[in-house]
Amino acid sequence: MLDCDVVIVGGGLAGCRAALEIKRLNPETQVALVAKTHPIRSHSVAAQGGIAAALKNVDGEDSWEAHAFDTVKGSDYLADQDAVEILTKEAPEVIIDLEHLGVLFSRLPDGKIAQRAFGGHAFRRTCYAADKTGHAILHELVSNLRRFGVTIYDEWYVTRLIYEDGEAKGLVMYRIEDGRLEVMRAKAILFATGGYGRVYNTTSNDYASTGDGLAMAAGAGIPLEDMEFVQFHPTGLYPVGVLISEAVRGEGAYLINSEGRRFMEDYAPSRMELAPRDITSRAITQEIRAGRGVHKDGGAGGPFVYLDLRHLGKETIMSRIPFCWEEAHRLVGVDAVVEPMPVRPTVHYCMGGIPVNTDGRVRRDGETLTEGFFAAGECACVSVHGGNRLGSNSLLECVVYGRRTGRSISAYIQGRNLPELDPEPYLQDTKTRIQTLLDQPGAVRISHLRQAFQDCMTEHCGVFRTEAVMAQGLAQIQDLKSQYSQIFLDDKGDCWNTELIEALELQNIMTVGELILASALQRRESRGSHAREDFPQRDDGEFLRHTLARFEGDKVVIEAMPVVINRFPPQERKY
Ligand SMILES: Cc1cc2nc3c(=O)[nH]c(=O)nc-3n(C[C@H](O)[C@H](O)[C@H](O)COP(=O)(O)OP(=O)(O)OC[C@H]3O[C@@H](n4cnc5c(N)ncnc54)[C@H](O)[C@@H]3O)c2cc1C
Repeated sequence: MLDCDVVIVGGGLAGCRAALEIKRLNPETQVALVAKTHPIRSHSVAAQGGIAAALKNVDGEDSWEAHAFDTVKGSDYLADQDAVEILTKEAPEVIIDLEHLGVLFSRLPDGKIAQRAFGGHAFRRTCYAADKTGHAILHELVSNLRRFGVTIYDEWYVTRLIYEDGEAKGLVMYRIEDGRLEVMRAKAILFATGGYGRVYNTTSNDYASTGDGLAMAAGAGIPLEDMEFVQFHPTGLYPVGVLISEAVRGEGAYLINSEGRRFMEDYAPSRMELAPRDITSRAITQEIRAGRGVHKDGGAGGPFVYLDLRHLGKETIMSRIPFCWEEAHRLVGVDAVVEPMPVRPTVHYCMGGIPVNTDGRVRRDGETLTEGFFAAGECACVSVHGGNRLGSNSLLECVVYGRRTGRSISAYIQGRNLPELDPEPYLQDTKTRIQTLLDQPGAVRISHLRQAFQDCMTEHCGVFRTEAVMAQGLAQIQDLKSQYSQIFLDDKGDCWNTELIEALELQNIMTVGELILASALQRRESRGSHAREDFPQRDDGEFLRHTLARFEGDKVVIEAMPVVINRFPPQERKY
């Protein structure tokens, strides 16, 4: 058994920022960071558009209160307002700290950090490094991990959280290189495992975004919060689903239907293309449904709309959003300087997650906390995004709550001993699980079952939802789950067995998908990204509350948790 003071699962922005904080506060603390990818390959590296903070470098009237209001309104009033206050108040400080670490933000002519417009934000407050912001930040954070002596276990796959009687004690982890299994025991465990885009068939997320942390927490009996809120980003490049950053609209691009019209004037006349993502994604979906989508031959009735940048001019495109230009050029052969890009909504972000308090401590239920268990970043739900996240608030959450959770872990482990733990049964259990997968004689291909599951989620729990369609989806999921024991692996070895990893990930995808659907079914209202055609209104009387969904045996049990409302009373959400 390996021992350390703190083990962090995840080498994205949240995990790295937490590790850095723990080491800064006490360089003696032994911190291990485990990631199934190399940390630099975490999905954070793909973040493009930027990170929000009321620095007032461009718009002097901005303030943390204005940022907080935009965030709460954007969340459709489901965000916890105490958590939003922390997020927006601490934002300027964490950005300056990143810049001191060496992050190369884009600059204004006077040398200050540049800030651009973003959907749902009333002021220009998104700081950026061209359209490679995540790349710029993650590289600095990862080099600092090395500087501070964090032990990195990269390309180790965590298979299980060891959780006994409300206390997290360790992890079971598998070295992808040679199949070695280890139990890692720690005084505190932090999950920073990112999102679950791969639960759906079209996503902007990387292949590793399979919701592992969420599924491991759920598997241990911990509830997941607000899982029905799945963010569809309006501009996924058609047909691949890869993201075209909101920065492109932030710089002034238009959304155009088959009639050549800027249709957003019908949906959000005051904000147009810079309405929040839930509203813009619904607008695009409605245009496509109404036959005003564009066809590959340029005619009407097709499956996408246009994102038109041509009026921005080559110089702006190449200096501010060069990566987006390159993506469209490389992946679909479109030169955005002279032709519009084909786009449609793509699954992008997980608003819900492992429920935590504002110190990053994981909740055991609506009232009590777990011991030794923390979560931060996209896999956590603190909840600053409620029903819909504003662009550029996620990187910010990773950094603010990564730092904050790092601090709270540093204090938590003072005087705490390593937990009592017998690793043997856990190792044995994982060995058996892996051996069963390798030995089972079934005839189902992992890729087929995964595709069927992703198609089921996309069809039954997409941008628009109804009771009947979701109930069908849930029934179909049970059938697909039962086929898991029939999957067949070609690779029986223990050296770089990525097929085995895919099999383990598929189980996580299924667990997370079921919780999304079950949570979505019980919320009989429309709020944020959760749009019910059978319940089109927001219902604050019944549903201004968080959902907590957990497994009891095979059954999903749903409970409610109150929302913290201490500053902005709920209003109708108009743009
Ligand atoms: C294309 C794209 C562009 C985006 N642009 C922006 C933007 O401009 N602004 C913004 O605010 N947000 C943006 N987002 C969202 C934002 O990037 C993410 O929410 C955020 O980076 C998540 O960071 P994280 O640290 O929580 O997790 P991630 O960066 O996803 O890292 C997860 C880590 O967990 C590890 N891991 C997961 N499971 C396991 C396991 N079983 N065992 C071991 N390790 C595991 C992975 O290896 C990885 O290191 C974007 C997202 C995408 C997909």
